[in-house]
Amino acid sequence: MKLFNEMVKLTMPLVPKPIVRRVADRYIAGDELEDAVAVVRRMNDRGMCATVDILGEAVDDREKTLATVEGYKEVLRAIKAEGLDSNVSIKPTAFGLKMDYGFCKENVAALVEEALSIGNFVRLDMEDYTCTGDTLRLYRELRADFGEHVGTVIQSYLRRTVADARELAAEKANIRLCKGIYVEPRRVSYRDMACINANFDYALKILLDSGCYVGIATHDEKRVQAALAIIDELDTPPEQYELQMLLGVDQELRDIIVEQGHKLRIYVPFGRDWYPYSTRRLKENPDMAGYVFRAMFKRYEK
Ligand SMILES: Cc1cc2nc3c(=O)[nH]c(=O)nc-3n(C[C@H](O)[C@H](O)[C@H](O)COP(=O)(O)OP(=O)(O)OC[C@H]3O[C@@H](n4cnc5c(N)ncnc54)[C@H](O)[C@@H]3O)c2cc1C
Repeated sequence: MKLFNEMVKLTMPLVPKPIVRRVADRYIAGDELEDAVAVVRRMNDRGMCATVDILGEAVDDREKTLATVEGYKEVLRAIKAEGLDSNVSIKPTAFGLKMDYGFCKENVAALVEEALSIGNFVRLDMEDYTCTGDTLRLYRELRADFGEHVGTVIQSYLRRTVADARELAAEKANIRLCKGIYVEPRRVSYRDMACINANFDYALKILLDSGCYVGIATHDEKRVQAALAIIDELDTPPEQYELQMLLGVDQELRDIIVEQGHKLRIYVPFGRDWYPYSTRRLKENPDMAGYVFRAMFKRYEK
């Protein structure tokens, strides 16, 4: 099965889109904002908060970035109108990071201003290593203007991350820590999972020890256990951290974390631009080959 899994990973671009969609449905709320609202409400009812992401990545078209800003403003208004416990996560490249830094900053600032006006929060997701410097710069500049209404992400697979964690710790930043999902050159990133894991625990300790607010984003039970040990060792108050997981991944672990009384936030993506996000998630899923195989023998419903 492991070999078949690897084969499916390599041949993913050849898998027909309706099959990818069928097996990826668990990872996305749906195409429309109302789908995301329904999923967030369900998560809230089960004791979890959420962060909503509109699917979409790098664009080179100014009109599209403006539509993204408007789309996210609508999400923030819906969260407020529906009384949901959720913030939003954005990809800076969908706001123009790769086109023009100043234009991107204006776009993200417009959104953070909206968040501030209704007491909400915007997290800047971290994309591949070519975006790291600019995303951290964007975070710092927006934080100077909007304070605690903005946060960002660091990735433990990057070799630079411990140095970034130290600087962000000194600034008492609001950080999500994750392992990292993009395929990066070895020059800048660890490949060995043991290194990535050790770096995760190390960076987490630096951030928590300095009083940063940390979103601990992982489905790796060993990382969750190590995080809870660090929290215990440092006597970290519950207001200083939350655990975070992606929609559709390891719901059993999700329920265990909630039952233990920790704050847990679920990342809820929605939108029509579902393909790149879904293929990344499927490649991480150890049971992917089985799902794809089964889906191939079912009739399409859409
Ligand atoms: C809330 C959240 C936000 C994130 N934001 C970013 C970001 O801004 N930038 C970025 O680069 N990455 C981001 N990621 C992705 C992250 O970097 C990892 O790629 C991803 O979470 C898998 O790493 P892991 O810590 O779960 O550990 P892994 O060791 O990869 O996985 C641990 C276990 O989780 C299970 N698992 C993991 N993924 C899946 C899946 N898709 N389906 C089924 N089981 C699975 C497997 O059983 C695996 O054994 C985010 C992740 C989360 C949870």
